Amino acid sequence: MGYQKQGALDLEGCETEPIHHIGALQAPYAMVIWRPEDGVILAMTANLPDLCGKSGQDIDALPIHDLFVGSREDIDKALASLVEAKPIALANGRRVLVRRSLVGAYQAVVIDPHPTESGFGSSFGAVLAFNGLIEEQLAKPVIDLAALAGGLASSFRGISGYDRVMVYEFDADLNGRIIAEDADPALDSRYMGLTFPSSDIPRPARELFLKNRVRPLIDVESATVPLISFRQQNAAAFDIGLVPERAVSPIHLSYLANMGVRATLTIALIVQGKLWGLLTCHHYQSARKLSGGDLSLCRVLCDLLSHALNRVRDQTRLQLTAEVDTLGLRLRAAAHAEREAEDFGTLLKDFETPILDLLGASGALITLGTGDFWLGAAPPPGIATLLARLDIKSNVLMQAGFSTNHIAGHFPDLAGALLPDCAGITLIGNSARMSTMTAWRPAIATAISWAGDPNKRVSATGQLRPRASFERWQEESTDKCMPWTAGHEDMLKVLLNILSEVGWALEKRKAERRALSAREQIERARDELEHASLHDALTDLPNRRFLDKTLAQFAKAGGGADRIAALQIDLDRFKVINDTLGHPAGDMVLVHVADVLRRQRRESDFVARVGGDEFVLIARDDLGEDKLADLAQGIIDTLSRPILIAGEQVSFSASIGIAVTPLVGLMPETFLSRADIALYEAKRNGRARFCFVSDEMEQARIERRKLGEDVLRGFEAHEFELFYQLQFAATDGRITGAEALMRWNHPDLGIIGPKDFMEAAEDIGVIEKLDKFSVHSALEVQRTWAAQGLVVPKISVNISARRLKEMNVCGMLQSHPDMAGRIAFELLETVDLNTLDSVSQWNIQNLQDAGIKLEIDDFGAGHTSILSLVRMQPDRLKIDKDLVLPAPESQTARDVIRSIVSIAKTLNIGVTAEGVETEAHAGLMRDLGCDTLQGYALARPMSAEEICERFIKRKRA
Ligand code: C2E
Ligand code: CA
Ligand code: CA
Repeated sequence: MGYQKQGALDLEGCETEPIHHIGALQAPYAMVIWRPEDGVILAMTANLPDLCGKSGQDIDALPIHDLFVGSREDIDKALASLVEAKPIALANGRRVLVRRSLVGAYQAVVIDPHPTESGFGSSFGAVLAFNGLIEEQLAKPVIDLAALAGGLASSFRGISGYDRVMVYEFDADLNGRIIAEDADPALDSRYMGLTFPSSDIPRPARELFLKNRVRPLIDVESATVPLISFRQQNAAAFDIGLVPERAVSPIHLSYLANMGVRATLTIALIVQGKLWGLLTCHHYQSARKLSGGDLSLCRVLCDLLSHALNRVRDQTRLQLTAEVDTLGLRLRAAAHAEREAEDFGTLLKDFETPILDLLGASGALITLGTGDFWLGAAPPPGIATLLARLDIKSNVLMQAGFSTNHIAGHFPDLAGALLPDCAGITLIGNSARMSTMTAWRPAIATAISWAGDPNKRVSATGQLRPRASFERWQEESTDKCMPWTAGHEDMLKVLLNILSEVGWALEKRKAERRALSAREQIERARDELEHASLHDALTDLPNRRFLDKTLAQFAKAGGGADRIAALQIDLDRFKVINDTLGHPAGDMVLVHVADVLRRQRRESDFVARVGGDEFVLIARDDLGEDKLADLAQGIIDTLSRPILIAGEQVSFSASIGIAVTPLVGLMPETFLSRADIALYEAKRNGRARFCFVSDEMEQARIERRKLGEDVLRGFEAHEFELFYQLQFAATDGRITGAEALMRWNHPDLGIIGPKDFMEAAEDIGVIEKLDKFSVHSALEVQRTWAAQGLVVPKISVNISARRLKEMNVCGMLQSHPDMAGRIAFELLETVDLNTLDSVSQWNIQNLQDAGIKLEIDDFGAGHTSILSLVRMQPDRLKIDKDLVLPAPESQTARDVIRSIVSIAKTLNIGVTAEGVETEAHAGLMRDLGCDTLQGYALARPMSAEEICERFIKRKRA
C-alpha cells in the first residue's frame, strides 16, 4: 500500500531503513556460498580461512567438497540433507556444526564453529509444558489473552533462560504494546503496558518476519563478519535476507545497545498470514547462542502459539459475525418485505443506528458501483479530500484494506478539516461486487505510555538516529480514535457482503419495477406466492415438492420424451465448510452452487435442491452417455473453482451420480435411488467425479452385503491369518519390529488382501473380532519366534480409527495383560486426528497409560496438525508410502519428508519410512533422518512360519 506515514511518529526514512548489513554475518558464524552445478565457491565470510586453516586464495580455488573431510559423494549426501544443523568435519579435522541455506539461486552453508548442545534443555518437555498451558486456556469458554501471553512469557523464559521475555501485540498502526512480560527479578526496569512505536521495526523487517519467523541476535557487541566474493562478483549480489544468522543493521544494534541489551531472540506471531505480534527475548549481561534444535523448537512454539491466537481470533470473529448475521437477517427481511417504497438509500437510513453501533463509528460511506450511500450525521468537510487521497476505488486498497487509529499522523494537513469527527478510519472493498465500505471514528482523549519518546531523531547530517531512552514517556493525545482491533476487518467484510448483496438486489428491483405496469404487479404477486411454495427460499431453485410433482407429471403424461435422466449432485465435505466458516458461508456456497447449476443446465433440464447440499438435475433431451458425461463434468469443473467468501478463498468439489430410465412405468423413488447408488460409487472412487449407475453397481451393493456375511463365516471357519512384515533400524539393520497384516485364505478365491474385505468387515461389524484376533496372534507369534531365538521387540497391529471409538480398551487389556511394550497400534492418519471425539481420546489415553505405543500410519497423506501430534504424543510416525516411493525423483517429496522428520525430532517422535522398495529408497530415507525402514527391499509380508524358517536358515548359514 502506498501510504507512508508522515507524522512525527513514523519518519519516512524508517520505512526504507536498511535492516541488515548487506553481505555480513553475525560472529562467530561463517558462511560459504557455491554454485550448485559445479560446486565452485563464489563467496565466503572473512573468518572462513582461519576456521579451516587455509588461505583465502586456496579456498577460492577449491571445489566446495574439498572444504570437508570425506568422499565427494558422501559430502554431497551430507550437504543435501542438512536442514537442521549437523556436525561435520572440515578438511583440517575441526568439527563444526553446519546448516544448509539457500542464497538466491546458490547453495550455501552456515558454519557454527563451536558445536554446543541445545541451550534449552529437553525440548520435548518444553513443548509439552507450553502446550498444556495453551490447552488449559483453550478449554475455557472465553480465552483470556492476557493470561495466555503471560503464561507463555514466563514458561518461555523458564525454557530459554533469557533475562526478559515480552509479548507484543500490534495495533492497526503497527505500534506494538507489551501485553505480557516476564523478567529476571534482578532487573529494575519493566516494559509491561508500554507501547513501542511502529518505527522501531521498519517495514522490510516486518515483512521478513513473515518468511523467517525466528530471528536470533547472539551478541550486540561482537563484530560482524563480512562476506567476501570471489570471481569479481559484488558481495551485495548474494541476498542473505532469509538467513537467520545474518548481521543486524548498525542502527538496530545501537538501538539495542541504548536499551542495554546484549543478545536478543525474536519470534514472529502470525495469525491468518499476517504479523499479529512478536515474542521478544532480551539478554543483558552476556551473549546467547542458539543451537539448531533450539531454532526448531522456537518454530514449533511459534506454530503452537499462532494456533492459539487463531483460536482467540476465531472466537472474536464468531461473536462479531454473529452480530452481523443478525443484522443481516433483519436487513434482508426488510428488503424483502417493503416491496413498494424502498430503495437501498432509504433502507440504509432505517438501519443507520444499528450499523454504526456495530462499527463503533460516527459515520460511514458505502459505495456500490458508482452509487454513494452516506451514514451518520453530515460527514466532516475533509472526508472527500481524504478519500480522494486514499483513492478508495484503487484495486490495491480494495484487496488489502486500510485502517489507522491516527489519521492526523498520516495526513497532518487534513487534520483541521477532519477532527474531531474523523480521527481514525477503516476501509475495505469487495472487488467482485464493486463495493467498498469506509467508516470513521471520532477523536477521544487517549493516553499512551510509550517506551521512551517515540520520535526518532535525525542528526545534523540528516541521518536517522536510533532512539536512546526507553523510560515511560506519557503521551496524552486528542487526535486519535478508539483503536480498530485486529479482527475487525472480518466483521467489516461480512457486513459489506451483506450490504452489497441487498443493495444490488434492491437497485435491480428498482429498475425492474419501473418497467412494470400496476396490473402486471398484481399478477406477479400471485405468481410469487405460488412460486414460494414450490421453491427453496435460499437458492430460489425448485424444491423437493416441485421435483416430485414434475416427476409424477412425467410418469403420467410422458413429457414428450421416451426416457429421462437424473443427475444426483452432492457437495463433497460441505459439512466442513459449515463447521469451519460458519453457516452464512455455507449458505453462500449453496447459492453459488445453485447459480452454477442454473448456468450449466441445458434449456430443457430441470434443476431442484432436494436437501442440505443435494441437488437433482432431470434431463429429457440429449440423453446420450457422452452428452450427459459432458454436462456432469462441466458442473464438476465449474464447482471445483475456488470462490471468495468474506475475502477468503473457499474450495470444495462435487460428486455426481447418473441414472437413465424409460418413462414408461417410471417409478420416481427407484429412479432417484439408482442415481444415488451411482453417487455413492462416485464418492467411493475419490469424490469430485461422476458415475453412471450400472447393473454391476447395484449388484455390487448386494454383493458387498454378501461379502460381509462371507467374512463372518470365514472368520468362524478360521480362514483369517496374519502375515508379518519385518521392520529394521535405518542405521545398523537390526530388527526393530514387525507390522501385522491381515490375510484371508478363502476356500474358493485363494489369498485375499485387506483392501478387498476390510470395508465389508467393518460394515458387518466383524472388525472387533478381527482386532482381538490380531492382538492375540501377534502376542503368540512373538513368543513362538522368541523360543526359536528370533527376537522381535514389538509388533504393530493396524486399527481402523473408526474402531478406536468403539474399542473396549480395558477389556482388551484385561484379557491380554502382556500387551504393554510388545504391541503397538497403527492408526490411519487419513481419519481426522485433529478432531478426535472424546471417547477416542479417552481410549488413546488408556492405551498409552497401559504402555501400548501408538503409531500414526500413512502420515503425510492426511493433514494432522502439529498441535494434535503434541496432544496425542504418538510414539512414531509412519511416512506414507505414496510419499516415500517418489522421493528419489521428487524434490517436493523429499522436502515434505524432511520437514516431517524435523517436526518429529523436535517432538521426540520416531519416524518409520514405509514402502522402501529399493536400496536407493533405503539410503535416502536413512539420510533424511528416518530411524526405521519397512518395505519390499528389506522384507516382504510373510507368514509367521516363513519368517521363522528364513531366520533359522540364515542363522545356519
Ligand atoms: P498399511 O497399514 O499402509 O500397510 C502397509 C501396506 O503396504 C501393506 O499392504 C504392505 O504389504 C504394503 N507394503 C509393504 N512394503 C511395501 C513396499 O515396499 N512397496 C509397496 N508398494 N507396498 C508395500 P497390505 O497388506 O495389502 O495392507 C493394506 C492395508 O490394509 C494396510 O495399509 C492397512 O491399512 C490395512 N490393513 C492390513 N491389515 C489390517 C488389519 O489387521 N486390520 C485393519 N484394520 N487394517 C489392516
Ligand atoms: Ca499400517
Ligand atoms: Ca501405511
